[in-house]
Amino acid sequence: MKRPLEMAHDFLAEVVTQDDTVVDATMGNGHDTLFLAKIAKQVYAFDIQEQALEKTKERLGQAGMTNAQLILQGHETLDQFVTEAKAGIFNLGYLPSADKSVITRPQTTIEALEKLCGLLVKGGRIAIMIYYGHDGGDMEKDAVLEYVIGLDQRDFTAMLYQPLNQINTPPFLVMLEKLQ
Ligand code: SAM
Repeated sequence: MKRPLEMAHDFLAEVVTQDDTVVDATMGNGHDTLFLAKIAKQVYAFDIQEQALEKTKERLGQAGMTNAQLILQGHETLDQFVTEAKAGIFNLGYLPSADKSVITRPQTTIEALEKLCGLLVKGGRIAIMIYYGHDGGDMEKDAVLEYVIGLDQRDFTAMLYQPLNQINTPPFLVMLEKLQ
């Protein structure tokens, strides 16, 4: 069975083409940025940590990818850079190899999500990987779920893909598709 992150990538790959602009809202070590760079025309990737940009730049360089713009700013500012997107991914929580107190936070996550939902084209998709085992993670999980549950079903389809019998707090996936 697919793990949630695999499912997230497959979900986006189903709609993203080489003509599309996409967003990696949480660059981190650049795994998602590289994945998106391979399938899209242009990637806008955001993170607030210099270390994330360095790691991602290195990863993209090794793969010979030049179609990602790495932005050292919070994803809540994405509308300053992107006017339209076919897809986006959020990988919430902290960067495992860095300062674990630097986490995504409910207010800015929701602000970014709301903006990305607004500039998504019809048929566009957003994958949100929710990690919530860390301090503050529970609050962010609740905020994201409340936000997506509140989306009008005429505008978005919202789906959940979640392990049900795993110990601890395994990450899960929320998938959104814009209908109109
Ligand atoms: N997608 C990444 C990868 O493939 O390695 C993992 C992302 S990691 C779980 C979460 C990242 O979100 C961290 O690197 C953290 O610095 C970043 N972050 C925290 N607040 C942010 C914000 N407001 N805007 C953008 N990134 C943020």
